[in-house]
Amino acid sequence: MPAASSAHLPRRIVVKLGTGVLTTGIGQLNTERIAALAAGISGLRASGVEVVVVSSGAVGLGMGRLGLKKKPSAIARKQACAAIGQSLLMQTWQRAFDPHGATVAQVLLTHEDLRSRARHLGVKACLQELLDYGVVPVINENDTVSAAEIKFGDNDTLSALVAGLVDAQHLVILSTAPGLIDMKGTGKILPVVEKITPEIEAMAGGTTDVTATGGMISKISAAKVALRAGCAVSIASGAEPDILARLFRGDNPGTTFIPAGVPLESRKRWIAHYQRPTGEILVNANAVPALRDQGRSLLAIGVTGSRGRFAPGDIVNILGPDDTVLARGETAFGDADIARIAGLPSEKLKPLFPGRKHLEVIHRDDLVVL
Ligand code: GLU
Repeated sequence: MPAASSAHLPRRIVVKLGTGVLTTGIGQLNTERIAALAAGISGLRASGVEVVVVSSGAVGLGMGRLGLKKKPSAIARKQACAAIGQSLLMQTWQRAFDPHGATVAQVLLTHEDLRSRARHLGVKACLQELLDYGVVPVINENDTVSAAEIKFGDNDTLSALVAGLVDAQHLVILSTAPGLIDMKGTGKILPVVEKITPEIEAMAGGTTDVTATGGMISKISAAKVALRAGCAVSIASGAEPDILARLFRGDNPGTTFIPAGVPLESRKRWIAHYQRPTGEILVNANAVPALRDQGRSLLAIGVTGSRGRFAPGDIVNILGPDDTVLARGETAFGDADIARIAGLPSEKLKPLFPGRKHLEVIHRDDLVVL
């Protein structure tokens, strides 16, 4: 059954489901709730909304199968749990969508898959293909092969990166948390957040659940990433019946974050959020407003030095004199050259790099203020 009149519905959404929503206790599937969520998603699909699911639960289900009461700290055991739980998770999703005549597709991603531009675009094209076929992609991190240094870490972050990747208009994070509680004011759920201020961030606390990973802190940082891509974000309780229909009917059961400003275009999004910077370029006080307020390129004259090892084409953070991260960008110079050119005006650079056309350290098209 269609969820609502299609006039106000987004074209494409990402729904992220936390382990706590999909299970009762450790590793026991909450089949009734999963059926209700599949019905909610199917209702939206029937109204013309394309839905990409990001589902946690692999590690939790694996723990249940193995009779483990605590999340294993050994990486290999966690990976083993994920390998066991992931297939159970997919069987469950397919069974839940069967009554609605929908096919699900398993998509397992590592950070590397979104980091390399070619693979990033490949995943995007594949998800588009699945959506064109009317299939429901069910994405999870490929925990079985993700070692610590290549991990997204939590599925909140993953869901925000996926929302940017597929150009979703809305990311819905359903967990056991009903929304962001207004700790300063009413003690109730904040219905709408127009800007993530330090006060808003202070309202989030970490998770204490044995199977959960992120908690509210990771949801807020995921919200920031999605908002920069122009995607609205709602945090609501996956335990509430009809939560998706209610959300898109405009009842706003939870907290909705509204994107502001012009969304970052896809290449800049890729630079800002999908990369792990390999080094840092330090800039002087004059460079700060030029980059932050005037949208200029970073020139050698504004550079005071660098930290870490990096090569031309690597993604680096740009730090102001107070040592806070100001921007991120694709550097045109490696760290060895930065040491030679820091502080030099462009005319002095020319003889050092004869024949080179572009002498910006980071061109403004390759630079994102954070
Ligand atoms: N990828 C993990 C799993 O499927 C969950 C990570 C998370 O909940 O954030 O178990």
